This record gives sequence, structure tokens and C-alpha cells, in this order.
Amino acid sequence: MQKTILDEQEKHKQLLQSMNTRPFWHYCEVCGKKEYITAEEAFNDGWDYPPSRSEWS
Ligand SMILES: [Zn+2]
Repeated sequence: MQKTILDEQEKHKQLLQSMNTRPFWHYCEVCGKKEYITAEEAFNDGWDYPPSRSEWS
């Protein structure tokens, strides 16, 4: 069986979509905040995810 490039692109697309619609734990390394939300909700809430160490101030 040969995989086609189209199959791989479709899988990748579905993975990205699932990441936007399925909640997962977000941790803020700076203030310790923890929320079980989707990537989309995190984005709307102003989360900068994945958290970056450069947030230290
Ligand atoms: Zn924070």
C-alpha cells in the first residue's frame, strides 16, 4: 500500500482542527494559572500558548 501526499495533508488538517476544538490543559508558567480549554478559547482569552520563558519580567 502506498500513502499519497493527499492522505497526509488530510490527516494533518484534521489534527490541526482537533486541536482547535478539543480542550486540553493550559498551564501558565508565570502565574501558575491552569485551565482546561481549547486552543481557540485560549487564544480568545489572550493565552500565549505554548507558554514561553521569555514572559518573565
Ligand atoms: Zn499567567
